[in-house]
Amino acid sequence: DPVPFSGITVLVVGLGIAGLTAALECSRRGHKVIGFEKKKDTNQLGDVIGLSGNSMRILSQWNQGSLAELVDEDIICAVEALELHDTAGTIRAAMPYHPESPAQGYLFRRTGLLTKLYELAIRAGIDLRFGVNVMRYWEDADNAGVYIGEKRIVGDCVIAADGFYSAGRTAITNEDPVQQPIGAVMYRAIFDAQEIAHVPEAAWLLKKAPKADILPSFYGKDVMVMMGTAAKGRYVHWACTIRGEVQQASEAWMQPASVEPVLDCVRNWPAASKLNAVLSRTPPGACFNHTMLAMPPLRTWVSDKGRMVVIGDAAHPFLPYAGQGANQAIEDAASVAICLERAGRGMYLWLCGCLRSSGAYFYSFAKSFSSFRLTGSDTYSWLRHKRVSLIQEGSVEAKDSFLKANWDSDDEAGSPSAYLHQSWVYNHDCVQHVVEEFQIAADAIRHGRKYIPTNVPVDGKYRQE
Ligand code: FAD
Repeated sequence: DPVPFSGITVLVVGLGIAGLTAALECSRRGHKVIGFEKKKDTNQLGDVIGLSGNSMRILSQWNQGSLAELVDEDIICAVEALELHDTAGTIRAAMPYHPESPAQGYLFRRTGLLTKLYELAIRAGIDLRFGVNVMRYWEDADNAGVYIGEKRIVGDCVIAADGFYSAGRTAITNEDPVQQPIGAVMYRAIFDAQEIAHVPEAAWLLKKAPKADILPSFYGKDVMVMMGTAAKGRYVHWACTIRGEVQQASEAWMQPASVEPVLDCVRNWPAASKLNAVLSRTPPGACFNHTMLAMPPLRTWVSDKGRMVVIGDAAHPFLPYAGQGANQAIEDAASVAICLERAGRGMYLWLCGCLRSSGAYFYSFAKSFSSFRLTGSDTYSWLRHKRVSLIQEGSVEAKDSFLKANWDSDDEAGSPSAYLHQSWVYNHDCVQHVVEEFQIAADAIRHGRKYIPTNVPVDGKYRQE
């Protein structure tokens, strides 16, 4: 339903999961949104991405608590169990999989999810502009915006959601932290299941189709292969992490890659023939790889004048072991929209107050903008920075448990750890949290008091046994 205009125009740069969700969340709260994306459409690379309870809770609010519209059969993986194998294909651990469980969550085809978010945004009447590469930002005391070529686009604030290689990050935060390679590369692919439909050795992967999907993973020395289906067997996807030096890895997030290094890694595994039957059918152009890079938390996500913020991977890229990349991006998007709403309302009330007592008008008008700054972007950052930074560091801390997992060694320590799935992460209700804490954090900032975040464990440590 249409909501009254909040008076705030938000420019969103980058329409990945963070940017599209920010556009939708801002629009739901009455802000006018213009979104910019450098790609020509939502059809991007990416295989499967997980959304746990903390983000699904946010998305369910778009449809009065129902996930029915989002959890579309064509874009999710209907996985019923997780099975972890050794290199012989023997199951070494298994657990039932319930997507509605907040800890496990739904698995989406990334492009399918992006398309769904795009459709929702178009239906909401949001102005989305594709094929626009935003490299320059500006702000003054009253406005902020971007340059498209030489054209200056004006908004009240800018949300940069332009991903790992963000141009907005340095422009907004003045920080450019070194991205550290963790010594591994990941290969990924997704393609139509028709490619393996007539291959007898690959039939095992389609054993649940067309009723359900499977997602087995295989752990060998320095190599992990996860393979599965999506949309009840309509798509095949796989991901392979290779520890140590791999020639074709580059610094780029994503690039087309050959499957050969993956085939080489599993060639001597006893289960090689069943894995190769799938890997070798990956169509040309469907495989891509990226070096796995860790980045330390930024000191701030907010610009000097407080009218620009970075969110999602642009602000805090995670290693995949936290399973929180998209989840925290969605939490960011919802939180920033609420903070702007609260700041906007404060600004409006302040202005009304001023208009009634006209003597103080100019003083209060000026103050209202500092109120926008204090209560909007900075409060957003205060509310979320500690939580997200802990998860960011936790994803790095956990890397060895996954990279060194190797069941062939028969060593208990060789099992991948699931400790990253922490209840304070996936059970969090970020909308309720921001609504409850906004004023407390804003007052703390305004009065120079310390704000103690309540969305992290009390001991401030990631791991809660
Ligand atoms: P991103 O998903 O990186 O989105 C950033 C968006 O900003 C992109 O659409 C990008 O084109 C756009 N952009 C960048 N620079 C500019 C610019 N200058 N001007 C305008 N727009 C710009 N995670 C998984 O778990 N599984 C996957 O299979 C997977 N595949 C991925 C594939 C790709 C191509 C990318 C970029 C990311 C992928 N990820 C994947 C990561 C995952 O999507 C993110 O960790 C998470 O969703 C947070 O998303 P984000 O919106 O912050 O960043």
